[in-house]
Amino acid sequence: MNPRLPRRVVVTGGAGFLGSHLCTRLIEAGHEVLCVDNFYTGTKANIAHLIGHPSFELLRHDITFPLYIEADEIYNLACPASPVHYQHDPVQTTKTCVHGSINMLGLARRLNARILQASTSEVYGDPDRHPQREDYWGHVNPNGIRACYDEGKRCAETLFADYQRQYGLQVKIARIFNTYGPRMRPDDGRVVSNLIMQALAGEPMTVYGDGGQTRSFCYVDDLIDGLVRLMNSPDDFHGPVNLGNTHETTVLDIARTIRGLAGSASDIELRPLPQDDPVRRCPDIDLARRMLGWEPATPLEEGLRRTLAYFREHFFQHGAIPAA
Ligand code: NAD
Ligand code: UDP
Ligand code: UDP
Repeated sequence: MNPRLPRRVVVTGGAGFLGSHLCTRLIEAGHEVLCVDNFYTGTKANIAHLIGHPSFELLRHDITFPLYIEADEIYNLACPASPVHYQHDPVQTTKTCVHGSINMLGLARRLNARILQASTSEVYGDPDRHPQREDYWGHVNPNGIRACYDEGKRCAETLFADYQRQYGLQVKIARIFNTYGPRMRPDDGRVVSNLIMQALAGEPMTVYGDGGQTRSFCYVDDLIDGLVRLMNSPDDFHGPVNLGNTHETTVLDIARTIRGLAGSASDIELRPLPQDDPVRRCPDIDLARRMLGWEPATPLEEGLRRTLAYFREHFFQHGAIPAA
């Protein structure tokens, strides 16, 4: 790892699920962190443990507006990630991806700072190649209900690539696949948090479609490790690089696993499949292995156990059902 220490690091979206873990990791590594967030989906609770730390600062700011500050590197994570949230105000989602990226790239350019973009497996859309490699261009509906996010993130990748080519900026692009873990919101709307909340409450567990669609779930600690390695990778490596777990599982299987680990008697209820819901998704992570020496280390059941423990502790103190 590159020992350029200590640094002033900006984390946009730092009060969100991934951002809060990243802020914590960077502070533990000795850096100064400025968390920039407009609290659209992020919460103060996510960063409560960092408030008052001498190396931590918080700025409430919407990155679709310019930002003039000093920093050595920037992780651009600001953007709602759950379909429920990014579809709630789709125009703002595209603005965050596009205007937000332009502003953060402009900031990086002025400061000559490294900048990492949290891109997504959604740039592959509903892929017709499996597993997805970085040289696959994707299969995206440009005007469907997911397009604000998918196309927004694709345009952001274009901007990052062009700032690199045009201005020689040090950019890094991570294509993040489904990630789960503590600090997902209980009302986040994504599958793991929904199913855990339902299992722990003893309510029906909602599986969309026939549950045969697949995803590959990465535990948050592993993902954060990948982001930090990417930021510290050699100057001439920009990505995009897939970061995700290669263990592909159906949604129905993950529902059954969560129910078993929670010791829950919830029924599984099938609900209509949302429009443009990808059928399969699984990363090829050979590039991350070669360039970053990275691969996930946390088995799914272990990660789910830790996530269940978090949800129990924070939302079921008085126990809807007894611990398994
Ligand atoms: P999240 O919704 O928990 O966090 C996003 C954060 O960005 C929130 O704190 C929110 O308040 C903030 N934000 C949103 N719009 C903003 C704006 N205009 N200005 C300032 N702050 C703003 O989501 P997450 O899961 O932590 O995802 C973080 C990043 O990683 C996102 O860019 C997302 O697209 C990407 N990503 C996440 C996953 C995943 O599985 N978690 C997968 C692929 C990509
Ligand atoms: N910007 C910013 N902070 C900075 C520098 C730039 O927010 O420290 C924003 C500003 O809104 C600008 C955008 O980033 O419009 C792109 O900056 P760039 O220098 O690439 O292009 P400009 O639009 O200034 O020609
Ligand atoms: N899903 C589900 N039940 C839920 C929430 C989601 O079956 O309560 C499905 C969703 O239709 C998708 C998969 O789980 O096929 C993953 O959804 P998520 O929103 O977590 O992320 P995506 O990968 O679709 O962005």
